[in-house]
Amino acid sequence: MKKLISIIAPMYNEETLAHEYCRETLAMADSLKDNYDFEILLINDGSKDNTYAVMMEEQKAHPKEISTICLSRNFGLEGAVNAGIRKAAGDAVVVMDADLQDPPALIPEMIKKWEAGADVVIGSRVKRSNDNFFKKFGANCYYKVLDGLSGRLKLEKNAANFRLLSRKALDQVLELPEVNSVFRVVVPFVGMRTDLIEYDRDKRFAGKTKYNLKSMIPYALDSITGISVEPLRKIAYFLLVAVISFFASLAGVIFASNAWKPACLVLMAVSVLFGFVFIGMSVIAEYVAQIMTEVKGRPISIIYDYTPCENVKGRQEA
Ligand code: UDP
Ligand code: MG
Repeated sequence: MKKLISIIAPMYNEETLAHEYCRETLAMADSLKDNYDFEILLINDGSKDNTYAVMMEEQKAHPKEISTICLSRNFGLEGAVNAGIRKAAGDAVVVMDADLQDPPALIPEMIKKWEAGADVVIGSRVKRSNDNFFKKFGANCYYKVLDGLSGRLKLEKNAANFRLLSRKALDQVLELPEVNSVFRVVVPFVGMRTDLIEYDRDKRFAGKTKYNLKSMIPYALDSITGISVEPLRKIAYFLLVAVISFFASLAGVIFASNAWKPACLVLMAVSVLFGFVFIGMSVIAEYVAQIMTEVKGRPISIIYDYTPCENVKGRQEA
């Protein structure tokens, strides 16, 4: 039997491009039909326009390749992607935007890398010339902050959702129990053999972006809290401010003219009080960080391969 490749395409109010997306993706699938079967999984994320009707038309026309999911309301991109990865049946799964900014024509190259042994193939956007200044600026800050917090995780700069995952990698992602899951952050958590393809991000085929700078902020916060508890730990740095302020006011009490001394004394007392407050906050933040880690319930490590010795194997078989 041929291997099955699932392609997940979330859509929110994309009636103007759903047909074209299907046309291009089906053409790509057709070029590989001798070696692979395809499942193109269209997800209607609570669209208010005719996206779902267009999807159903496409499914009627291409029942062999096109699957559809209709969510009960708009859950946002992450919710739609999650529904897709839960239902995808493929030996490998590709997640991509449906607006053709992630070109379906790159999928054969991703499949090649997967066949060569990669469990994760990331599409990295080398150019974002079609994004406006604010979006580019926002994205730059977003990736800088994530990179700073990523610790041992290797995050690919400028990599969004466009990626192929082997069944093995996908199953690990699906096993993570967290609800507030950001795909581009949980994939690096799972790790595994990762390869990259670079591409220029095209213009949207039609319609408008659903993400401006303002709507990117909650998304960025979800990613940050999804990647690390470091911001909570950074609260301890406020203590440093209180310490500096204490010594500055102490210097004022000793060296400043008499007129300034009472003010410096008050500042000294305030610095001590804030010092206590920040110590208290840091202690609470540390416990919150521990709770956050426990609640997420991620495994401490993920075993990629295990080869037991013969003595163990014998016992397992007995
Ligand atoms: N999308 C979605 N639900 C939403 C918002 C967006 O499924 O609530 C889909 C959208 O239809 C598209 C993809 O997510 O296929 C990326 O959205 P968009 O192109 O607006 O984001 P951008 O590329 O501008 O960051
Ligand atoms: Mg887009």
